[in-house]
Amino acid sequence: MKTKGKYVYFFGAGKADGNAKLKNLLGGKGANMAEMVKLGLPVPPGYTLTTEACIEFYARKRKYPPGLKKEATACLARVEKLMGQKFGDAKNPLLLSVRSGARASMPGMMETVLNIGMTSKTIPTLIKKTGNPRFVYDAYRRLIAMYSDVVMEKAAGIEPKEGEGIRAQLEGLIHKVKKKKGYETDLDLTAQDWKSLTVQFKKTVKKVLGKSFPDDPMKQLWGSIDAVFLSWFGKRAVAYRRIEGLPDDWGTAVNVQTMVFGNMGDDCATGVAFTRNPATGENNFYGEWLINAQGEDVVAGLRTPFAINEVSKVVTNRHLPTLEKDMPKLYKQLDGFRRKLDTHYTDMQDIEFTIQHDVLYMLQTRVGKRNGPAAIKMAVDMVKEGLISKQTAVARVRPDQVDELLHPMLDIKAEKLAKKLGVGLPAGPGGGVGQIVLTADMAEELGGKGEKVILVREETSPEDVHGMKPAQAILTSKGGMTSHAALVARGWGKCCVVGCGDISSIDMKKKTVNFKGQVLKQGDWISINGTKGLVYKGKLPLIVTGPEKNPSYKKLMPWADEIRRLKVRANADTPEDAKVAIALGAEGIGLTRTEHMFFGDRIWAIREMIMADDIKGREKALAKLLPMQRKDFYGIFKAMKGRPVTIRLLDPPLHEFIPHEKATQKEMATRLGVTVKAVAAKADFLFEFNPMLGHRGCRLGTTYPEITAMQARAIFEAVAKCRKQKIKVSPEIMVPLVGAVPEFENQKEIIDRVADEVMKKKKVKFKYMVGTMIEVPRAALVADKIAQKAEFFSFGTNDMTQMTFGYSRDDAGTFLPEYVQRGILADDPFQTIDQDGVGELMELGVKRGRATRKDLKIGICGEHGGEPASVTFCHDLGLDYVSCSPFRVPIARLAAAHAVLAEKGKKRKKKK
Ligand code: PEP
Ligand code: MG
Repeated sequence: MKTKGKYVYFFGAGKADGNAKLKNLLGGKGANMAEMVKLGLPVPPGYTLTTEACIEFYARKRKYPPGLKKEATACLARVEKLMGQKFGDAKNPLLLSVRSGARASMPGMMETVLNIGMTSKTIPTLIKKTGNPRFVYDAYRRLIAMYSDVVMEKAAGIEPKEGEGIRAQLEGLIHKVKKKKGYETDLDLTAQDWKSLTVQFKKTVKKVLGKSFPDDPMKQLWGSIDAVFLSWFGKRAVAYRRIEGLPDDWGTAVNVQTMVFGNMGDDCATGVAFTRNPATGENNFYGEWLINAQGEDVVAGLRTPFAINEVSKVVTNRHLPTLEKDMPKLYKQLDGFRRKLDTHYTDMQDIEFTIQHDVLYMLQTRVGKRNGPAAIKMAVDMVKEGLISKQTAVARVRPDQVDELLHPMLDIKAEKLAKKLGVGLPAGPGGGVGQIVLTADMAEELGGKGEKVILVREETSPEDVHGMKPAQAILTSKGGMTSHAALVARGWGKCCVVGCGDISSIDMKKKTVNFKGQVLKQGDWISINGTKGLVYKGKLPLIVTGPEKNPSYKKLMPWADEIRRLKVRANADTPEDAKVAIALGAEGIGLTRTEHMFFGDRIWAIREMIMADDIKGREKALAKLLPMQRKDFYGIFKAMKGRPVTIRLLDPPLHEFIPHEKATQKEMATRLGVTVKAVAAKADFLFEFNPMLGHRGCRLGTTYPEITAMQARAIFEAVAKCRKQKIKVSPEIMVPLVGAVPEFENQKEIIDRVADEVMKKKKVKFKYMVGTMIEVPRAALVADKIAQKAEFFSFGTNDMTQMTFGYSRDDAGTFLPEYVQRGILADDPFQTIDQDGVGELMELGVKRGRATRKDLKIGICGEHGGEPASVTFCHDLGLDYVSCSPFRVPIARLAAAHAVLAEKGKKRKKKK
């Protein structure tokens, strides 16, 4: 269809210039209205001014392109003819609505003006025709309020103080009348009340805004159209686009449409409905309606909406009438439209309807919003019903919707009403509800007894792990997305919010937490939304679903697996984690952080090693660690049944294992039989200004080769044991933080030597690989040289992000949120890969690594491995796998499938 130079699209009575495909030009609302008309549904006639008209309007400094007004006038004449009415006519007046409609739904962000065409000339006729002066004056006051607010104030660029805008002042007048007359609701106001209010309204408008409310219908119409176009750059709309990442140059369309009224009497009604249940996905018609009401009454919450049918009933409207029973014929007709739309669009629709004097009109249809379980069920059901392909079903479910099944979530309804205490980073998804505790010991004690507690700390360290596990959730005031608390919580699938800057202080003496002046005590209940990073006061209800109980999930995920190319592994540190990972679909382990095996009581063996002053003492302590590590590795290998397992050598700086508080130092001294002074001295010795850039990773293994040797021995002895028991194993040993080739060579020599020794001693042969993490930027630059020695690469994007930006991964929480909020960075680079910088280094690493070793296996094990946009990026880079915490494995599986589908989409477009 020729669209250039055509700015106005007509729709009505079975004929429409547009259709659903023209969403970019007509906006979602306009395109779907045209489509409904074509489907033969009763839509009040009207016309759409295109988004191109909006763009031109701005380009021409708020003037319309030539021809537009002529086109609009012709469309208006067609509408008038269809309706047998005339706009502004004293005998038979037509009333119009003017609404915005962008490509993507921007709920409530732009403007609407209803009841346009009410003037001193048309009002008497309307009263005569309806016989309902109350209705007419009620409609008129709504027009004055909307018009003065939208057109005369907002579009004119007037910015009154909060609560002092014209609309609020007019509302104030209604309130006064209600108070004076002792009315409870707007429904109590009489025709005379509304009539005198319209007079007062007009006076106030003139006084406040210095101009009269126009009595000319054309002025009302074009003023409203201008205002809707102008609302595209209104404050709210701009802010919304920034948050949602929508571009400014889309523009909005404007829909001008014949008014239909659901509030003209008891044979009138209005409602909103979904073609399937948006909360459960069930194929039931689901919705709300109100008799004798306008659309805004249903959503405004002043009246309790009724359920449209028996299955839509909830506690609050169980006793109220249904459309199904009260207006059975119309309900049947509406249900027919519902089926038609659901099948035609092959997706759940959110529809708006109005009944005017027993005649049903459709006002809107659009793809309906839904929660995770509903999205999965609908997609799978629609494949069964033959409506969509498996690929479409996979494409339609967002990765975060799958995530909703994996964790208990706070009840959304309760969340809306709850008091928010603060916002932080969403480090561990799901919901957590519990009483505040401030120490790990207390969390362990109370949590162990089955009490629900939330551990609140400034930040956590390995010393807190015993209290983190039994807690329902973890909340820290400092730290970023890759801080200790975040990594550990995510690994367990535990709800966690870190870097909550709204915590101004934690007073360990008074046992209080200060949320910007709101002081809560230890023992007070809080609720946490770890998916969004929100903290609430009180005990909110939790909703649990669980993937294993969800037949639709079980159907959908294998479809995603058939599509994806990337393999998905898990970051897992224990046999239990490994089992969870496999259950969630992991195809291997991409990272075992061996330091996580030193949590709990084992911390004492590593502390003993640290306290040793010479190699002999260290080896003695390491000998204690060896059987523990061997047992862990054996357990993991067994659980993984021959799937690849990447084990990383010890990485963190040693000071993390040493207590810094005096009391714990004393305990350590007693347990190890050394002096407190010695412990304190060691802590001082190990102190580093920026430990994340200090003595850690392969730098530890280089200076203390006995640690590497012990770990390699534990791994290989576990491998040998498996081999003897005919358990398949594919070990991959990974050296962390390599920046120079000799660092890697040195570690590999030790590993190979120990492997030989174990093979000889145990009299078995086994295969293994030795590779490295690419996390120091220099490693990416010299990847060609490293690949001469290393058999695989795994991108450690946590450290690579830290080192590329020069942001400490633990402390960036002090400024990163503000950076993102102000748009200095589009996203937190610790959450989603910074493709321009870190991504560039990764690309170099892949290219240079594979230039040396063509089939070099490359993965990623930084936290980004479970984040959908980063997964797509890894797919595009040609990595072999992504590895993420077990609970993010399903997200990565789905995201990897989406990456393939997006690639196919791009190719298809190119071909065209
Ligand atoms: C990384 O740096 O991306 C990584 C996986 O290692 P860690 O987070 O343990 O430093
Ligand atoms: Mg790292």
